[in-house]
Amino acid sequence: MLTAPAQRPLSAYDVALAQFDAAAARLGLEDDLRQHLRQTKRELTVHFPVRMDDGSVRMFVGYRIQHNLARGPAKGGIRYHPAVDLDEVRALAMWMTWKCAVVNIPYGGAKGGVAVDPKRLSLGELERLTRRYASEIALLIGPESDIPAPDVGTNDQVMAWIMDTISMHKGYSVPGVVTGKPVAVGGTLGRREATGRGVAIIAREAMRFKGLSLQGATVAIQGAGNVGLHAAQCFTQMGARLVAISDSVGGLYNPHGLDLPSVQAWKQTHGQLQGFPHAEAITNDDLLALPCDILVPAAMENQITGRNADRVKARLVVEGANGPTTPEADAILRERGVLVVPDILANAGGVVVSYFEWVQDLQFYFWDLEEVNRNLERILVRAFGEVASLAEREKSDMRLAAYMVAIRRVADAMRLRGLFP
Ligand code: NAD
Repeated sequence: MLTAPAQRPLSAYDVALAQFDAAAARLGLEDDLRQHLRQTKRELTVHFPVRMDDGSVRMFVGYRIQHNLARGPAKGGIRYHPAVDLDEVRALAMWMTWKCAVVNIPYGGAKGGVAVDPKRLSLGELERLTRRYASEIALLIGPESDIPAPDVGTNDQVMAWIMDTISMHKGYSVPGVVTGKPVAVGGTLGRREATGRGVAIIAREAMRFKGLSLQGATVAIQGAGNVGLHAAQCFTQMGARLVAISDSVGGLYNPHGLDLPSVQAWKQTHGQLQGFPHAEAITNDDLLALPCDILVPAAMENQITGRNADRVKARLVVEGANGPTTPEADAILRERGVLVVPDILANAGGVVVSYFEWVQDLQFYFWDLEEVNRNLERILVRAFGEVASLAEREKSDMRLAAYMVAIRRVADAMRLRGLFP
């Protein structure tokens, strides 16, 4: 059993390393590559001041970490959340390396973050924080080196500010420095909904793999942000029934189905889901244990753990969030026959369409939505097929198989490039 060193709680990085170690061992990866890939390549910590609306100056801490660049420029989101720390960003950066490799797009992995609760900042404070953080990490980011995107607590507006800040430093527009931008400043059609759409596509493929149909299947989603809400939308468009959804305050359950537009309108007006009249109020813990076909954790890390995994009733867990299931929970779910589709595959739709956005920015030639969605579908269906057939061949779970596909690709690139100098 995986335990945290010195009795501290299990960090996302402990989980990421344990997942890597398991796949590296199964692959028989050389020890030097194993040691190399367990480490991040570059870690930048920045402490920076921001002037607040009341005239005071507050210090913030932020990070940008690149895990591996063997397959191309670094790619990974920026998170604004009070719990952001070095270990979390390390884990998220490492997961990005595997995610880009498993869907076979030409990127390495990175992640960034600032320890802040963006909901407590005014719009002006958020903009000043973003511009200063972008300036602090400007020595790492760029269209050829490291391309950020939105994650928890950031959105297309934040990306527009980063793009503008870097462009001001350069003296010309640099749209390719970030993805997930508004379409008006070089964003792509289909990016905002891409992660959620990818979750639904992968869930459909996983249901097929189990000989089941998505049509009429019941879905519970933890998290009502970018990923959760767009996944909910795509699931309902594909004929599934959304029975539960939650945010950080709590959740809603209606076994007959939730009307998504009314739920979204309620959240928009009241800032939270709680109080929505046509559903039973539930906690986030209740949501994980609901009777449903598909459970989509789409909020934070370490949600399905050794403590609650035996209560999961879904047949399929599709990880919209990064790192929502601990290795202990993975083992329990495997034992109980619950198919877990791992984050690096299930939520890769976002980075795939980010890749399309970057390609369009570099060429200054933009695609229509149909082209974006068709290519997204093609890449995800292919990646799912590769992982599913390896899982069958290896008689392994899908996480191990996805890691094996990804690590093999990264290791191949590293062997070909050789050791410098
Ligand atoms: P977001 O900030 O848009 O939304 C997060 C949602 O989770 C909010 O509704 C928030 O209220 C809720 N939440 C926070 N803590 C919670 C808790 N303890 N229990 C239940 N709900 C909680 O963020 P997002 O972009 O939707 O990201 C969600 C997850 O998906 C993260 O793990 C992120 O790394 C991952 N992800 C995001 C993208 C992307 O394109 N945005 C891509 C891949 C993976």
